[in-house]
Amino acid sequence: MIKVSVHTALLLYMALFLFFYLLTWLISHLKTRSKKIITPYLTLTTCSFCNAPYLANLEKKVHKCPSCNCFNKKM
Ligand SMILES: [Zn+2]
Repeated sequence: MIKVSVHTALLLYMALFLFFYLLTWLISHLKTRSKKIITPYLTLTTCSFCNAPYLANLEKKVHKCPSCNCFNKKM
């Protein structure tokens, strides 16, 4: 049998705990990173009247500002 001191056993226990903790964090991080939050058809634009930022569809020529309800042309 391998003789291990209390300090070595505690150190091994903490190292294994940290390893599996970081492994689960890495897996969950890679899963959430693969999801796209912004679709390629949307772009971040600002309203020319109230300067409020909003997401506008790239395919439409005229956007409606959600905060002041004014219509903005595509730039
Ligand atoms: Zn506006």
